[in-house]
Amino acid sequence: MTKTKVLISGASVAGPALAYFLHRDGYDVTVVERAPELRDSGYAVDFRGRAFDVLEEMGILAEIREHDTKMRGTVLVDERGVETGRLPAEVFAGELEVPKRELTRILHRITADGVAYVFDDSISALTRHESGVTVEFERSAAREFDLVFGADGVYSKVRQLTFGPHADMLRHLGLSGAGFSTANYLGLDRNGLLQHATGTAIYLFSLDAAERLTVSLSFGTASPALDRCGRDEQEKAVRAAFAGHGWQAPRLLEAMSEADDFYFSSTCQVHMDRWSCGRIALVGDSGYCAAPTSGMGTSQALIGAWTLARNLASAGGDHTTAFAAYEAELRPYVAENQVKGRQAAVMFGGGAGSAGS
Ligand SMILES: Cc1cc2nc3c(=O)[nH]c(=O)nc-3n(C[C@H](O)[C@H](O)[C@H](O)COP(=O)(O)OP(=O)(O)OC[C@H]3O[C@@H](n4cnc5c(N)ncnc54)[C@H](O)[C@@H]3O)c2cc1C
Repeated sequence: MTKTKVLISGASVAGPALAYFLHRDGYDVTVVERAPELRDSGYAVDFRGRAFDVLEEMGILAEIREHDTKMRGTVLVDERGVETGRLPAEVFAGELEVPKRELTRILHRITADGVAYVFDDSISALTRHESGVTVEFERSAAREFDLVFGADGVYSKVRQLTFGPHADMLRHLGLSGAGFSTANYLGLDRNGLLQHATGTAIYLFSLDAAERLTVSLSFGTASPALDRCGRDEQEKAVRAAFAGHGWQAPRLLEAMSEADDFYFSSTCQVHMDRWSCGRIALVGDSGYCAAPTSGMGTSQALIGAWTLARNLASAGGDHTTAFAAYEAELRPYVAENQVKGRQAAVMFGGGAGSAGS
């Protein structure tokens, strides 16, 4: 019997997790990832609730635990750096927190033998027809697949090609920010410092590498338009937002220009009426991002992949039935996480959150 051929776009969390379950269930799986290699992001991700069952079912829970950041909590400080309170570790680190690069590396390792990974490429066109989907790529030759999954994040190419422009589905939470690392000149040791004033927040922490300080400078914005700008313009906006700030701001702004791991992103959620269209479905942030402020994105990506694969298995591969069941089962959980994402955005300088781009 020929295997059902599936293509997954995105090799971060949802993509490799879905690849794991579908390969296990007998599918012929290809994953295409735009980055030239696995991404090495400086931040940590946490796991909550049923995500532990997913990690257990993949047989990697014990290995994941070995990378526990053992964060000890966050000290809240005022504009002069004077302590005003403390947040326990669980607020940002959940029940277990690991550097994201370790999770991605492990997920890739457990799937690399049976799943074909194609790096440095992207889907460029999708043509749906009765018996499958013709996929064109930026670099590789066009191919036929039975099913296509978008696990390619907030700015999902699969979503854009299948459902329409980003602006129709992104809800900006009034917040954008720069992230980078610098020398750990404050001597933080598995703990964080958070200073939030009206419209801005500085969050500093040291993870597993004691000599590095991870920096997040966030501020209120009216739209995520800066995401599409170059680094110069993004840095300029950060400087403008923190102009006149005391405490660590002047030193951090200086370090920002020298950082070789600078990134900029706006805090957005993805809201869609449906997560599938024919033989194409979305999983993780691409379909229902709850925003990094929710602390639920990684758990949601894992649980989403697992729920999708489980419903495909119980529907005997009937994708129409499976996609409907996946969506019905997961929506209440996603809705809860999105509420958390909106509420927590305020702590990092965001506003109430509004639709649009
Ligand atoms: C700064 C920051 C801090 C965060 N902190 C936390 C936290 O503390 N706890 C938590 O649970 N979550 C956190 N998150 C969120 C978490 O990282 C995401 O929710 C989670 O990674 C979602 O996984 P995903 O696989 O759906 O999407 P992503 O991790 O966004 O992965 C998408 C993948 O698709 C690839 N891709 C994009 N476009 C294409 C294309 N055209 N073709 C092929 N591949 C493509 C990308 O390169 C990437 O590898 C944070 C996110 C950020 C940005």
